[in-house]
Amino acid sequence: MLMSPLEFFRSLPKKECPECGDHMEEQAESYMMECDRCLSKREE
Ligand SMILES: [Zn+2]
Repeated sequence: MLMSPLEFFRSLPKKECPECGDHMEEQAESYMMECDRCLSKREE
């Protein structure tokens, strides 16, 4: 069964940071796995 693109995107699970488990805002440009907090921690 074909899904409309809109339904397809709606069915995607929310992105979660594997480090802290926080939900992340979906960003089309973002291909980072971790949330901003964990990323900034990493740079230290
Ligand atoms: Zn995180």
